[in-house]
Amino acid sequence: RVDLKELLQEIMLNLWTKAEKRSIELRLDSVDKPLVEGDANRLKQVFLNLVDNAIKFSHENSAIDLLVSIEGNNVVVQVHDTGIGISEDHLVRVKDRFFQVDPLNGGTGLGLAISQQLVELHHGILLIQSELGVGTTIVVRLPRLEEEQMTDVSQNTSQLPDVSPTE
Ligand code: ATP
Ligand code: MG
Repeated sequence: RVDLKELLQEIMLNLWTKAEKRSIELRLDSVDKPLVEGDANRLKQVFLNLVDNAIKFSHENSAIDLLVSIEGNNVVVQVHDTGIGISEDHLVRVKDRFFQVDPLNGGTGLGLAISQQLVELHHGILLIQSELGVGTTIVVRLPRLEEEQMTDVSQNTSQLPDVSPTE
């Protein structure tokens, strides 16, 4: 199981220097123990790419907010920037493999396509909300792992209904 708060804290450390160079502040606001089932390395790849994008497409002296909340049976992570944003025309294509609004920015245009696939492999969804010149919010929803689902199966057998014959 993966604690997304811890994972995002790790990512903030990894990308600190990159953000600092452009005077971009990384902020995290998370509930405690936002647990999901899955592969920590793959999920790290997802959020590394999303935060990397947020830094890359933000203006200097701005801030990026990472918000983690619980909504029903889901953990919801929002990566919010106040950067260049994406036009409506481009919004439908940014998750396509190799699509980049401006290829001169470097990279390969694969980050979002890979992130989306990895989120879906974890039974989640990735949504993009953006407005040109205003900023972008990426929303990732993943099924929440409840505390009771973490208990050892052997401990749970005592709670199984008694199936012995009653007559
Ligand atoms: P790579 O991730 O392979 O290094 P990339 O960042 O260009 O390259 P994606 O992460 O797939 O590729 O993003 C595709 C395109 O979507 C970007 O090139 C950019 O045009 C746009 N985009 C992605 N995230 C943002 C964002 N936070 N703000 C503005 N535009 C964005
Ligand atoms: Mg990218």
